Order: sequence, then C-alpha cells, then structure tokens
Amino acid sequence: MAGLPYIVGNWKMNGTRAMLNEARAIDRAAARFPKVQVGLAPPATLLFRMRDAVELIGVGGQDCHASENGAYTGNVSALMLKDAGADFTIVGHSERRDYHRESDADVKAKAEAALSAGLSVILCIGETEAQRDAGHAEAVVTAQLEGSCPRMDGAPDKLSIAYEPIWAIGTGRVPSVEDVAAMHKAIRTRLVAIYGESCVDVRILYGGSVKAENAAELLAVPDVDGALVGGASLTAESFLSIVGAA
Ligand code: PGA
Repeated sequence: MAGLPYIVGNWKMNGTRAMLNEARAIDRAAARFPKVQVGLAPPATLLFRMRDAVELIGVGGQDCHASENGAYTGNVSALMLKDAGADFTIVGHSERRDYHRESDADVKAKAEAALSAGLSVILCIGETEAQRDAGHAEAVVTAQLEGSCPRMDGAPDKLSIAYEPIWAIGTGRVPSVEDVAAMHKAIRTRLVAIYGESCVDVRILYGGSVKAENAAELLAVPDVDGALVGGASLTAESFLSIVGAA
C-alpha cells in the first residue's frame, strides 16, 4: 500500500460500541476510494469489535508497551494489539509524551516492539508553540526523529511518520503550507540520513486540526503523504470528506 495517500483517524479516548456504526460507514465508503489507504485507531476496548466490523480499512492501537507482557498495570502490549487484530499502532503521540512523560528512547522501544510483533508503526513528532516561536521547530522535530526512530533491518516500509505541531492539535490552528512543506522536507532529509535512500517509501503524514475545509490544501503540499486526524475522525461524515480530499 506504500505510495497511496494514508488517512488515519485517531479516536483518542472516545468511543463506545455505538460508535462502531461510524467505523462501518467509513469502511463501506472506503470502497469508493481505492487509491487511498484508510486506518482507524479506536480505544483498545473497541479494537477487537472494530476488526470484526470492517473489511477494507486498517485498524490500529494508539500506543503500545515496549514489553510483550508482565506486571504493567493498565498497559497493552504490541503483541496484544496484534492478537486483537490490529494492523498498526501509533507511538509517541504528543499526549503520551506529555501526560505519560514518554521520552524519545521510550518511543523508540515501543516502535521496535510494535515492528517485532508484526505491526506497522505511525511515529509522531512535533514541536510546542514556544519552540516554534523561538525558531527551533526544525531542530526539535529532527532531534525527536533521530531519537525515536526504530532500528530496522531492511527497507523501512512498515514505518510512517506523523508530523503534528502540538499547538495545532485540537486548536483549529494549522501551520502555513510553506511551514508544513519545509518541515516535511527536513523530516525526509533526516530519514534519508538515518535509513538511507530506502526510506523513500516512508510516508510522512501531517496531523493537527485537519478538517474537511483544509484537507485538500494540506494534502497537496510536497512530501505530505497523508493525514493523522483526531477530532474530525469521530464521525463518518467529516472523516470521509478528508478521505475524499486525498
Ligand atoms: P486533531 O488531533 O485532528 O483533533 O487536531 C490530531 C491528533 O492529535 O492526532
């Protein structure tokens, strides 16, 4: 599926069984968009049921623990996500890095655990508003990338990066297309330094207040290979308008 635009919905801590109807509607409509890869990351409690409810779209976790099992109350391992039917998992979302104090090294270990469990990985990076205002956005983001990227044997085709400026998440604010283009180019350059030319297939998604109204513009930016969508992924109607824009 590498090469296709990748649109992923992150439901965060939203959704009980009733919301599976939205997933079913998204899955039915996905047949109309064969040139777009679509994924949904529901809360872990819905993963198993969502897997059974959909056919075309990918399903994934929002985080995983770096160990396969053990005395880690409240956590879910990559192996468990895989066992519940997940195709991928998000790691390193800024809400995890912030509220759960996850470091780059933690995120890297999680990404490696996910890959060894057979999952694809969406690795999130992004700067705070203060870091952008101070002119440090690119340095911060490329350092996060360097510290969080998993060691991989062979081509990194199971890896996607999501650039999510923290100040754009859930705020309705988005960077200019010029800023998005510059950051995605910097990320691509750093990926080549880390993995070599084989990383051309690594998709770099943009995330942060992606909506029906701005999706087409953001997805047309060079090196933007898809979107990670939070709030606007919670209804089939708004999510599908973003899928349609890809
Ligand atoms: P948002 O969230 O689309 O609601 O801004 C994006 C994200 O956190 O992945």
